[in-house]
Amino acid sequence: MTGPVNLRREIHRNPERSGCETGTAQRLLRFFEPLRPDQVIEGLGGAGIAFVFSGKEAGPTILLRSELDALPIHEVNEFEHRSLHDGTAHKCGHDGHMAILAAVGEKLSIKRPACGRVVLLYQPAEETGQGAAAVIADEKFARIKPDYCFALHNLPGFPVGEIVVRNGTFACASRGMAIRLTGKTAHAAQPETGVSPAKAMCVLIAELSELPSAMDFGSELAFATVVGSRLGDQAFGTAPGEAEIWVTLRSETDETMARIVSHAEKRTRQLAADHGLEFEITYQDIFAATINSDRAVDVIRRATGDGPLSVAEQPFRWSEDFGCFASVARCAMFGLGAGKASAELHNPDYDFPDELISLGADIFLGILEQAGETQRP
Ligand SMILES: [Zn+2]
Ligand SMILES: [Zn+2]
Repeated sequence: MTGPVNLRREIHRNPERSGCETGTAQRLLRFFEPLRPDQVIEGLGGAGIAFVFSGKEAGPTILLRSELDALPIHEVNEFEHRSLHDGTAHKCGHDGHMAILAAVGEKLSIKRPACGRVVLLYQPAEETGQGAAAVIADEKFARIKPDYCFALHNLPGFPVGEIVVRNGTFACASRGMAIRLTGKTAHAAQPETGVSPAKAMCVLIAELSELPSAMDFGSELAFATVVGSRLGDQAFGTAPGEAEIWVTLRSETDETMARIVSHAEKRTRQLAADHGLEFEITYQDIFAATINSDRAVDVIRRATGDGPLSVAEQPFRWSEDFGCFASVARCAMFGLGAGKASAELHNPDYDFPDELISLGADIFLGILEQAGETQRP
């Protein structure tokens, strides 16, 4: 396992942010060259790259997906493989996910799948929610035609190596909503001559925070987090004419997200009208829910046999763009425990535990065997 562990550390030292992962893709290309994949597809949806290993007989195409991108977070760790780029680091463990697929590639280079094809896909720009959709929209992806897609994410706070599965929603849908309210500035001595968005802003902040619970989605997870706001400037002679509110919406299903969005937009429209304001709403970081197919989850369950497996009672609250692959194949994502003592994801002291590389690779190899059996012609 020295090859994949060294690869992980080399990638950790040289992180690249979403949409800028060309150097990382080149490193993977160099790693896979001696493994002699049957096909290499470069430039998928940006820096994406796929390595294909083919069996002799016809059979299903099974895609395993890893992410390529690091985060705009400064690493505080002092170990030898710390990030060489100030302000950018692998704080979600995507370096480890890449190494796991590299370890699977090493095995496949020695023993090709009995039938069908295995596609090891390295996808760009997961953290911004744009990469999976870009890969799927790329015409080079149309040649792949996967029957199944699988991915894992390491999970700090869970015992090392524990496999966490869930039927239905695995990770929530989310989106960032930015609301701009525009009135008219005035002299602070005569605020009545202007139109201040202050009151409407306060009502909206209070309402948006309560909105999903007020709408009653039953037991389904749905919530909104006001992440920031701005009203006017620190100019004591001026009454404000502009306000912004930034809120992150989350839900268990895309249908519920659509209802929350529609209600939030309606209330913004009403409040703006009541207070004589113009408004503008924009969205970013849009993630669909990651919804696991029952058949794909069954494959994971069979592959893990008697291994440590737990079922997540609720979907994870974070979001993942892996959900996009459900539009092209049966999909399932599972969690892999990174240890109870591990720093949390996206924290400046986080680091992917190397011991998960062989554990993750073994689970994927089991999945390939089981998924191959399921569809053997
Ligand atoms: Zn992340
Ligand atoms: Zn991640």
